[in-house]
Amino acid sequence: MDFDKIVAGVKMMIDGIGDDALREGLVDTPVRVAAIWKSFFDSENISDKEILKLSFGAENYGDFILVRNIQFSSFCEHHLLPFFGKISVAYIPKNGSVVGLSKLARVVAKYSKRLQLQERLTRQIADAIGQHTANGGVFVLVAARHVCMTARGIVQPGAEVITRAMCGEFLLDKSIVADVQQLIFSANG
Ligand SMILES: [Zn+2]
Repeated sequence: MDFDKIVAGVKMMIDGIGDDALREGLVDTPVRVAAIWKSFFDSENISDKEILKLSFGAENYGDFILVRNIQFSSFCEHHLLPFFGKISVAYIPKNGSVVGLSKLARVVAKYSKRLQLQERLTRQIADAIGQHTANGGVFVLVAARHVCMTARGIVQPGAEVITRAMCGEFLLDKSIVADVQQLIFSANG
């Protein structure tokens, strides 16, 4: 990541809106923005396979495993503004092998820390987990608020965008999808 380029870019934006980038309140802003952007986009440079190494035997466990309400924040690639919320992931384990539960949150973080679209983020998480963990199926549901929508007053503050992606058993059996969604939405009361 090129820190100095981000600093220069923020200075230009401040100039562009007609404010004085050298006045007291703004003089350190480009460096502060660059530092926070670095934290937004500093994603883990590690393959999905490495993150999702199968690690535990679950014997005869054949039902789904759901991790609900993983907090995330990402950046809308159309407006360079945050969107954030909760992601729930369910999967049916491969040959009785399950991954450590924190691994799912690491996949969420990896795909969140980049310029994104909510729809793509949803699909990428499902694909990563489907390829390396869950040949029985994956279900991902993302509920997010987008600053680009709410700040302009087009959508009321608090409006959420819901996206989902699934594969395997979840596409074939609507009752599993209903069970998982009920568990997710009941937690959000
Ligand atoms: Zn946007």
